[in-house]
Amino acid sequence: MPEFQTSPGTRDILPPDAARWRALTGEFAAVVEPAGYRAIVPPMFEDLGVFLRLGEATDVVTKEMYDFEDKGGRRVALRPEHTASVCRAFVQHRPVEPWKVWYSGPNFRYEKPQAGRYRQFDQVGIEVLGPDDPLLDVEVISLAWDFFVGLGLRGVELRVNSLGDAGDRQRYADELARHFGGHRAEMSAAALETLERNPLRVLDSKRPEDAAAIVSAPSMRDHLSRAAVEHFAAVTAGLAEIGVPHRIDDRLVRGLDYYRRTTFEFVATALPGAQDAIGGGGRYDGLVADLGGPETPGVGFALGVDRTLLACDAEGCFAAPDGEVEVFVVDTTGGSVAMHITRELRRIGRSADRAWDARSMKAQMKAADRSGARVAVIVGSDEAAGGTCIVRNLGDSQQTTIARSDLPAHLDAVLGSPA
Ligand code: AMP
Repeated sequence: MPEFQTSPGTRDILPPDAARWRALTGEFAAVVEPAGYRAIVPPMFEDLGVFLRLGEATDVVTKEMYDFEDKGGRRVALRPEHTASVCRAFVQHRPVEPWKVWYSGPNFRYEKPQAGRYRQFDQVGIEVLGPDDPLLDVEVISLAWDFFVGLGLRGVELRVNSLGDAGDRQRYADELARHFGGHRAEMSAAALETLERNPLRVLDSKRPEDAAAIVSAPSMRDHLSRAAVEHFAAVTAGLAEIGVPHRIDDRLVRGLDYYRRTTFEFVATALPGAQDAIGGGGRYDGLVADLGGPETPGVGFALGVDRTLLACDAEGCFAAPDGEVEVFVVDTTGGSVAMHITRELRRIGRSADRAWDARSMKAQMKAADRSGARVAVIVGSDEAAGGTCIVRNLGDSQQTTIARSDLPAHLDAVLGSPA
C-alpha cells in the first residue's frame, strides 16, 4: 500500500467522474442563471464567528467544525456550508436587493464517514436575500425541482414544512421539550442528549426506542402564527399551481438551526435511507441580522453533488460525458509534424491528441484506437515531404490521402462543423 492515501472522508474524483461532476455544475448554472441568479465564490474559510451564528444547537457547529487558529492567531474555520458566508458577504457588501446568487463548491464537516457521507463534500445552491414573498419560495423550490428533473431523475420526493416564525419555533420547542421530558424512561440516550440542546432535532431520530415518543409528539402545525400559516399556504398553493409535486411533512425539521417558516427537503427514493437526502433548504429570516446586518429575509437551498450523482447512478441517468478527442494524429517522422497539426486543429476548434516518444507506427495506431477518436490523421515521410496527410476513419478503416491544407474542410465533411 502506498505511504499516502486520501484522508478519511475525502476522495479523489478521477476521470471520467470529475467531468461528470463539472457537467452537473454546468446543468445547475443552466437552470438558475436564466432565472437571474449570478455566481458567487465566497472563501473556503472564514472567521469562526460567522459559522457560530448558525446556532449553538447545531451539530454542524458544535461537533463537526474544522476550526483552527491560523499563524496570525485568528480563529478561523473551513466552511461547513455556504449560506452563512453568503449572508456575511451580503452584510459586508450591501448589494441591491433582491440579491439572487448561486454557488458551487466544497464544504467541510467532521462527520463519521460512510457511504454518501464525507468530510469534504460538494454542494450547488442558490440564496435570495431581500423579499419575504412566498412566491419567491415557490421559485426557489421549483428551480431545484427543475434541476433534478433535467438530470433525468424520476424518483425525487419533495417534502415541505413550515417551522413558523422565531416565536412559534421557540414555543413549539418548549412544548416538545415538555412532551419528550415525559418519555425519558423509554427514549435512547442519544435522543436525550439531543433533547437538552435542541428538542426539534429529536424528531429526526430514527432509533426504534424513540419512535413512540415521536409519533405522539405535538405537531408544529398547531403552533404556527397566523402569518406563518398564510405564508405556508401560499407556498404550497403556488407549488400546486405550477405542478411541482410535494408532500407536507410535519416532522421535517432539518439540521441547521437558522430555518424559519418554509423548510424543504429532496429525497431520492432510489437511495438507501441513510443517504437519501439529496438536498434541502428553506427560509432563514434571522440570519443576516445575526451577522450584524439589517433584518433581511432570506431563502435558499443547497443540493449535495455527491448524493445527487449517487441517485443518478441508482437510476441510470446523467452518465459521464465522453471526454474523447475527435482526432488522433500519428506522426512517424519524429513528432514535430504532429505538433503543428494538433495546434492547427485545436485553433479551429477541433479536439486533437497525439502519441509521444516517437513510437512505432503500430504503437501509435494502437494509441489512436484507445483514444476513442473517430479519425486518425497519419503522416509518414512521404506525406511529410509532399505536404499531404492520410485521414483514416477509425470506425470502418477507410482512408484517403489529402493535401494538408485541405484538412480543416475535409474534417468538416467527415465530422461535421466543430462544436
Ligand atoms: P445541509 O447543508 O446539511 O442542509 O445539506 C444539504 C445537502 O448536502 C444534503 O441533503 C446532502 O445531500 C448534502 N450533504 C450534507 N452533508 C453531507 C456529507 N457529509 N456528505 C455528503 N453530502 C452531504
